[in-house]
Amino acid sequence: MTKVLVTGGAGYIGSHACKALKAAGFTPVTYDNLSTGWEAAVKFGPFEKGDLLDRARLDEVFARHDPIAVVHFAALSQVGESMALPGKYWRNNVAGSQTLFEAMLDAGCRQIVFSSTCATYGEQDNVVLHEQSPQMPINAYGRSKRAIEDMLMDFGASDGLQSVIFRYFNVAGADPEAEVGEFHRPETHLVPLILEAIDGQRNALTVFGSDYDTPDGTCIRDYVHVMDLVEAHILGLTWLAEGKGSAVFNLGTGSGFSVREVMQAAEQVTGRTVPFVDGPRRAGDCTKLVSGSERATRDLHWRPERSTLAQMIADAWRWHQTGGYGDNPDDG
Ligand code: UDP
Repeated sequence: MTKVLVTGGAGYIGSHACKALKAAGFTPVTYDNLSTGWEAAVKFGPFEKGDLLDRARLDEVFARHDPIAVVHFAALSQVGESMALPGKYWRNNVAGSQTLFEAMLDAGCRQIVFSSTCATYGEQDNVVLHEQSPQMPINAYGRSKRAIEDMLMDFGASDGLQSVIFRYFNVAGADPEAEVGEFHRPETHLVPLILEAIDGQRNALTVFGSDYDTPDGTCIRDYVHVMDLVEAHILGLTWLAEGKGSAVFNLGTGSGFSVREVMQAAEQVTGRTVPFVDGPRRAGDCTKLVSGSERATRDLHWRPERSTLAQMIADAWRWHQTGGYGDNPDDG
């Protein structure tokens, strides 16, 4: 079967992508250093443990599997941490991606689907963000992803590397069959933190800022179901296989929800209350990030049909109740 190399395949989005790739007839080969991923999440194809910065290991894996394309998820992705430790983000995300792209090109693999982020847009006066909106990231994480996008353009011009860049908005939810799901240690993302607070695994959710210029004072984000998101990657691979060339797509729904609205939806789905406290703003957070996703709908025929708050939280709750990959919430 046709192999696709999935960097970060042991992580949250990568593991769901492996499931979707397998269902679409590919063999997903996971390449992951397990710094934030879980070997237990690698369920749908071979596992090659390795680091993006390890060129010799990458060469070996390309030689062994000869993938037709790479889907590149592996990255550090915490906004707050990126502000405190920017060097870690530039080394792992930017230098790591450069090492990967050079290994790909030397192996003759010239198609890549890359996980970028709406954090590359930055703060833009409450507008809906389109692919052609200026990229003015306000945190080191967003700047590291913008740099990788630039690098892809340069390798495209010099070596014919074809890339589909997806700028993700906020990914939530889990595999409805709960084979894989979101499991970070420590957890920093809103939906799993809300579910842990509901479940008594942590005392309370801290709401990061309630004085933003939004209707209820909390930040607004555009949440997309992880299964919808990974489906777009299959469409992206098809796009490249059909020779349609490099392209950039936002992946979001066009609807924004505040932190308090997500909390209310979780209360409705679970029938329980969310214990919370209002805290200070988190460094690097934008007030509002909402996607203009017409391009993905029009050109890729992408339909994010599972991306309602109720569906995302119901699927995340089902996964949460399995206990995830197994340790305590505050370990890690
Ligand atoms: N958030 C929050 N409390 C938390 C974690 C997140 O209030 O403990 C807020 C955060 O400020 C942002 C939204 O929830 O407005 C989504 O944050 P998350 O870290 O899930 O994703 P990000 O937007 O950073 O990619």
